[in-house]
Amino acid sequence: MDIKEIHQYYLDSSGVCTDTRNITAECIFFALKGENFNGNLFAQEALDKGARKVIVDQQQFHKNTGETILVENVLVTLQQLAVFHRRFLGLPIISLTGSNGKTTSKELINAVLSQKYKTVATIGNLNNHIGVPLTLLSMTMDTELGIVEMGANHLGEIQMLSEIAQPDYGYITNFGKAHLEGFGSIEGVVQGKTELYQYLRNNGKKLFVNANDPKQLENSINIDRITFGTATNDYNIKMVDSTHYLVVEYNGVRIQTNLVGSYNFANVSAAVAIGAYFNVSTENIKVGIEGYIPANNRSQLITKGTNIILLDAYNANPSSMLAALENFKQAKGEYKLMILGDMFELGHEAEKEHQNIVQFLEENPFGTVYLVGSNFFKTTSSASHIKHFQDFATLQTTLEKNSPKKNTILIKASRGMALERVLQFIE
Ligand code: ATP
Ligand code: MG
Repeated sequence: MDIKEIHQYYLDSSGVCTDTRNITAECIFFALKGENFNGNLFAQEALDKGARKVIVDQQQFHKNTGETILVENVLVTLQQLAVFHRRFLGLPIISLTGSNGKTTSKELINAVLSQKYKTVATIGNLNNHIGVPLTLLSMTMDTELGIVEMGANHLGEIQMLSEIAQPDYGYITNFGKAHLEGFGSIEGVVQGKTELYQYLRNNGKKLFVNANDPKQLENSINIDRITFGTATNDYNIKMVDSTHYLVVEYNGVRIQTNLVGSYNFANVSAAVAIGAYFNVSTENIKVGIEGYIPANNRSQLITKGTNIILLDAYNANPSSMLAALENFKQAKGEYKLMILGDMFELGHEAEKEHQNIVQFLEENPFGTVYLVGSNFFKTTSSASHIKHFQDFATLQTTLEKNSPKKNTILIKASRGMALERVLQFIE
């Protein structure tokens, strides 16, 4: 069966389903294979629960019925269908990637653009070889603008995702030390991310460039680019204040965000510039940005007892850790406590990168530091303001015995550390 026919089935259905725990009546079920499950084994259940068609790739598990469509590879078919659908709709798509701040930027851009357009943006963090196709397939004839987050942890991935999403506009949030395990080095990160630039260049598409970031400028020569920043660029956005919530100014209008951390300036600037480029009024840009509240432990400000907590336990890598520490150094507060957990996916750079963070903390003694996790435990420091904890349990014991009071506290680690758990031990 060719993709055109499958697309017709898809248009007649209520949408794509991939999980039998969430079947929408009349959907078209794709029997994807994951690490722990094989969708082929759930195809009948999907039909029983109301799916209209099932796309499968292992004949031995299925009866030949009109509802079953056998293809060579379900994942490839899903991706091909997404490409077909994307071309069928022909709407403008903005894709973004980068080491840090993709989801935050994507949410902010969507918050701004949805003031004027019917938008569809990546839901949550669905930014991989399955998430990108699913995002495209959630767009309809009504959709006026698509915003697609693309994630990568190895070379070639962004190229593949660009070929699927076929963006008309691109933005790379930054080039940082994330996923070094897969990319090998910072040069590998630049190479991996700029696969989006190559796609845009080869296809005559446009790029948004944060002119405050030299890496973005130097890597985007020869691309039709729209620049923003505080210097003389297409769009000028000023940082007004970052000591508490970030405040920016654009076109004479003050925008009070719900984001903490000066590193969010780049994310907000991108949303302002992209909104202005698509003719969203400054007033509506303000409404969009001021209405966005970060979720999922991403840079949240919480008050607990006498403490003020900056919870940033969603993820961490060497670049975002340093950005958070630089920001925290400027933050208000008489007593500062940093509870920092391991950074994952660094391969053989792990030891060096953790020690680098410790070195920064030694050279910048602006508060007490609790380091937790086996990577940080391997670091060495003779500074008395830095304390090592082998695991969460030992940290918990200390916090239970001696809960911080009147502190400003930063909590940051990789997702796998689930460091938001410390919240319950802070009174
Ligand atoms: P993922 O790789 O999980 O998709 P992401 O790139 O989508 O991550 P976000 O979820 O937006 O990133 O932000 C995660 C964390 O990264 C934030 O909580 C913050 O600590 C940090 N961060 C966000 N924006 C920036 C930035 N521009 N520069 C450095 N660090 C940032
Ligand atoms: Mg993300």
